Amino acid sequence: MQVEIGAAAAQVQADIYQMVRKAEQAGLVRLSAGNISARLGDGQAAITPSGIKYDRLRVEEISIVSLEGATLYGPRPSSETPMHTALYRAFPWVQAVVHTHSPYAMTFAVLGKEIPAISLETLRVGAPVPVAEWACPGTAAAGERVVAWLRSRPELRVVLLRSHGLLAVGRSLEEAFEFAYDAEVGAQIYYQALQVGEPLVLDAAQVAEIHAVYGG
Ligand SMILES: [Zn+2]
Repeated sequence: MQVEIGAAAAQVQADIYQMVRKAEQAGLVRLSAGNISARLGDGQAAITPSGIKYDRLRVEEISIVSLEGATLYGPRPSSETPMHTALYRAFPWVQAVVHTHSPYAMTFAVLGKEIPAISLETLRVGAPVPVAEWACPGTAAAGERVVAWLRSRPELRVVLLRSHGLLAVGRSLEEAFEFAYDAEVGAQIYYQALQVGEPLVLDAAQVAEIHAVYGG
């Protein structure tokens, strides 16, 4: 069923489009891997479409879905829509979801190895960043794994998806993007440090000091 969309939804489509451009420039999305969504009112969300390469994406191809998974507008939504909508159903505060197959985060996702608290970037996203238990990409179960982690550790903003990628949540598109970017940079630094020696993990007192200076 195709319906007319309102001005608010059209603005969110434009915002997601801009965010895709930004994520491309940051190296977080490539080809059609990774997807970005934002909550709309009335139990709906806007999300990047399935199988359209991001360099050819047009604003009007950002799909609109119900949080139960029905396509309300646009082309076929991302195959990973059930993962996004699981987050919106579980947490009213989540306004945006950024999912990437960014290389350094994926490296730890395929190792099943968490990213410890080693720097400001990792602390911002709630480090240690865990690797969620396996769930097939594209399934609601993949979203439920992340939901379970966020329920047990409410400070978390990023979870790695085993053998798959990274998922970041935020109170805005900008925030979710920044968390995804911070996590990718943190993963890169951790990876590089592991090549040279044994990275120093911040202890609880050091983490407390940093929170005292930066808040949070
Ligand atoms: Zn994916």
